[in-house]
Amino acid sequence: MVNFPGTFRQTISTNLLTLTRFRELLKKIKQARPDEDLELLRRAYRFSAQSHISQTRASGEPYLAHPLEVAIILADMRMDVATIATALLHDVVEDTSVTLQDIRDSFGEEIALLVEGLTKVNRLDIASREERQADNLRKMFLAMVNDLRVIFIKLADRLHNMRTLQYVSPEKQQRIARETLEIYGPLAHRMGMSKVRAELEDLAFSYLDPIDFEKIVKEIEAKRRSGEVFLKEIAGLLAARLKETNIPARVEWRIKRPYSIFLKMKRQNTEINEVYDLLALRIVTDSVNNCYAALGVVHTIWSPVPGRFKDYIAMARPNLYQSLHTTVVGSNGQHFEVQIRTEDMHRTAEEGIAAHWKYKEGGAYSAADERSISWLRHLVEWQQELSEPAEFLTSLKINLYPEEVYAFSPKGKVVVLPRDSTTVDFAYAIHTEVGNTCVGAKVNGKLVPLRCRLRSGDIVEIVTQKGSHPSRDWLNFVVSSRARNKVRHWIKASERSTSMDLGRKILEKECRRLQLSWKSISDAQLVKAANDLGCPSKEDLFSDVGFGKHDAKQVLSKLFPGSITDEKPEKSSLAQSVQKALGLSRESAVQVKGFNDLLIYRAKCCEPILGDKIVGYITRGKGVAVHATNCPNVQNLQYEEERRIEVEWAAAADDTYPIDLILHTADRPGLLKEITAAISDKTNIRNIETKIAENGNATIDLSLDIQDKKHLDRLIFAMRKINGVRSVERSFKD
Ligand code: MN
Repeated sequence: MVNFPGTFRQTISTNLLTLTRFRELLKKIKQARPDEDLELLRRAYRFSAQSHISQTRASGEPYLAHPLEVAIILADMRMDVATIATALLHDVVEDTSVTLQDIRDSFGEEIALLVEGLTKVNRLDIASREERQADNLRKMFLAMVNDLRVIFIKLADRLHNMRTLQYVSPEKQQRIARETLEIYGPLAHRMGMSKVRAELEDLAFSYLDPIDFEKIVKEIEAKRRSGEVFLKEIAGLLAARLKETNIPARVEWRIKRPYSIFLKMKRQNTEINEVYDLLALRIVTDSVNNCYAALGVVHTIWSPVPGRFKDYIAMARPNLYQSLHTTVVGSNGQHFEVQIRTEDMHRTAEEGIAAHWKYKEGGAYSAADERSISWLRHLVEWQQELSEPAEFLTSLKINLYPEEVYAFSPKGKVVVLPRDSTTVDFAYAIHTEVGNTCVGAKVNGKLVPLRCRLRSGDIVEIVTQKGSHPSRDWLNFVVSSRARNKVRHWIKASERSTSMDLGRKILEKECRRLQLSWKSISDAQLVKAANDLGCPSKEDLFSDVGFGKHDAKQVLSKLFPGSITDEKPEKSSLAQSVQKALGLSRESAVQVKGFNDLLIYRAKCCEPILGDKIVGYITRGKGVAVHATNCPNVQNLQYEEERRIEVEWAAAADDTYPIDLILHTADRPGLLKEITAAISDKTNIRNIETKIAENGNATIDLSLDIQDKKHLDRLIFAMRKINGVRSVERSFKD
């Protein structure tokens, strides 16, 4: 055990105020949990005081004030002594020379693990602040799944930091407030801890948007003054009627808090006067039966607004919140909300998972706790498939946003999804395989497109087809992080297998060309060559070759040392073998600046020809796609700047490019002959197909071999001049 008797005395003499607060802390714990071991707390307090002795906060107070206030917040939440002791020690490892081992030696494994979960990782290899933030959150969430106390302490820590945010720099205020609003507020909400959430969000709001904050606070004040009389009156009326009906209850009223009003106004694009639940009455009674009985009483006094009744008792929210909500019309025509709940539900509504939480040895949770943190478990499971910290952050933010859609399977199973979820999200929520093979969906009996957004109450039937698989396009509309991650995962796996096949084919072809025997190479040789080139396995080597990271010749020179001469590789023949391996029989004369032997092909969406301005795009698993600069896909892909590479045409006079044209014409005899004549005998025509429509118009599909852009422009010009030809356009496969 570490003890510092001499300096401890010095600490108390300079920090009498802190000591007074510590005594208050002890008193609170004695009241809430009389059997707890207070000696542990005294030790933790001394340890923390000593460790932070030379530090002060931005406010000028001794640093110790911070861990102490965090501990007091947790004591008010009636947390156990281990949690409160950890709160006192939570910044020691991060901010002082004390190590985790010191904590373990002095306070044991349980507290050491908690402190570790709260200590930020200092990874020097991570440069950006966003990545570091994501990495730390990831670590905290992992610790949290094993012990929820990590998050209780973290929330209390953040709460105190938010309460004292006025002392730090404006930049830091913005950063901390934003993180609070994006992560910790929603997190508290997911845990059902609405009191903590409310304070965190309102404080963050006041820093991030002081103008709107001030405005709303002023309006609330005005509403409070005019509404108070009204609410007191109806609360009195309601209390009297409940008493007559023998329903034991207390009636309270509340005004919605600033940030929540702000969100609602923004979401519904309305004024504060139109926020229905700005004013609410709350009935707290003793039993579930009396909740429904009280609802009956409410509806006999005032008429309910149709469609505004919500039964969160029968269907609790995922964060354990339970209540009946109804909106009614008062005698003066004013709308107000009534919330009805039991005492127990009330406590859960305010404190959420912390209300009934008890630490059990080995980290086991009660069934209710387990339900409310299942999203967290899933998040942590899914994040193992996410390699990028930034992806984790996105995934986390999506998971923390609370608006949900409740949809049903045909058998009545409830599926809870984030707002704006689609049928694909639903399919993945049912089962990964259902998601991977879904091809269509019926919502309430009607066939809908996969991207169809679901609404609460929808009955969703997913149509699957064996052998079908996810499309990259789904990433444009799926909402749940589960679906997003599963689709990404599938694409990555399939790209890797494409690259592997391709890489192997390229190596085989190159062997044949150099008259070497591919079959004579042993597995051990392949693994060694792979390792020499920095690949952990031969599969990685194949996929690197397929992706264009390693060139085939370089690999073969490892496998057949001495057999490969320094002669320059014949670029065109490798390019050809690549094209064949890719199943792209069309010849390409694209040369990639600065790279040799990368896989190159013309993008099917714009099929550029010599003379077009071009740009290369590295596509995972396929090599380099060459697009025309004005291709709409290029415009859309521009955010992925790092995948663009410069390309230029290799001038080769005898090359031609297959292109397709579509002509809209009148149906007139001799027209086709004139068109072919205009094309002239120097141009190869691969195919002509004419379709005649009933209205006397015709469409002609034409496939030609073209030398370059000038050649094509000349032909198009000649065809447009023909009488009866209305338009001549290029057409593309997709
Ligand atoms: Mn702290």
